[in-house]
Amino acid sequence: MLSFSMLSNRHINIHLALAYVYYKHYKDTFHDHHQQMTQQINLRFYHQLNDFLPVDQRETRINYALNAPRSVKDLIESIGVPHVEIYLIIVNGESVDFNYLVKEGDDISVYPVLDSAQISQHKTLSTLPLKHCHPKPWLESKFVLDVHLGKLACYLRMLGFDTLYRNDYDDPTLARISVAEHRILLTCDLQLLFRKHLTHGYFVRSRQPQQQLREIIIHYDLFKKLKPFSRCMRCNGKLHPVEKQAIAARLSDATKKYYDEFNICEDCGNIYWKGSHYQKMQKMVELLGRKNE
Ligand SMILES: [Zn+2]
Repeated sequence: MLSFSMLSNRHINIHLALAYVYYKHYKDTFHDHHQQMTQQINLRFYHQLNDFLPVDQRETRINYALNAPRSVKDLIESIGVPHVEIYLIIVNGESVDFNYLVKEGDDISVYPVLDSAQISQHKTLSTLPLKHCHPKPWLESKFVLDVHLGKLACYLRMLGFDTLYRNDYDDPTLARISVAEHRILLTCDLQLLFRKHLTHGYFVRSRQPQQQLREIIIHYDLFKKLKPFSRCMRCNGKLHPVEKQAIAARLSDATKKYYDEFNICEDCGNIYWKGSHYQKMQKMVELLGRKNE
C-alpha cells in the first residue's frame, strides 16, 4: 500500500478530484432521493369533488407526498377524482391546465363546474384570468348511459332528452360514442371516467333512479330544457301525434273507450296515451320542476 508521503502532487490532485466526484455523486443522489421522498404539496378539492375522497380528507387542505414528477391531471386522478368532473385548477394563485407539472411546495385548489353564484363565493376566482380544464358544454344535452342505468335512461327520454342506452354496451363503446356523438357519458362505474379521451362525463352518485334523474337535471341545469313526453321511453325515437282510427286495431276496448289522443314512436311504433302511467309521470315532472325542493 502506498503511503501518503510516496504520492506525488499529481496523484494527490487526482485522488482529491475523484473524492470530490464521489462526494458530489453521493450528495446529488442522496439529495435527489431525499427530495423524492419528501416533496410535499398541498391540495384542496371543492364542492362535489369531495364525494370522491375518503371522509377524513373532505373539505380540508390535504398534504400529499409527491414521489415522482407528474402532471396535475395524473396526480388528481391518482387520488381518485376523474378529470371529466374538473373545471378549474388553481396552483399558487394561478389558473393552470391539466398539463401543469406539479412542483414541491405547490398549493393546489381543484374545482368542479361552478355556477355564477358559486364562482362569486370564491373571490380569487372572480378576479383571475382562468384556464378552463373542462371544454365548453356541448350545445345539445344528449346522453349515453352505462348498462346499470336503464331506468334513468327511460326517465331522461320521458323528459325529451336524446339518450342512448343498451344493456350490452361495453366500456370502450360507451367512451367512443360519447366522444364521436358529443353525448355526455353518465355512469356509476367510476373507472370508466378515467378514460383518457373522454371529455364530457359524470359519475352518478345516487342509486335510486328518480333521485338520479333529479341529480342529473340539477347538475346540468336542465330545468328549462325539459320536453316531457316527446320521446319514446323504449327506444329513444321521437313521438308524433297519430289519428285514433289509424291505430284502433292495436288498442284494447277500454283504451278505445276512454282515450282519443295518441302519439306514436317514429322508430319502433310504440303507442302512447295519457293513461294512469302518464298521470304518474306527469306528477314526477311537476316535482322535478320545483327546483328548490
Ligand atoms: Zn320507440
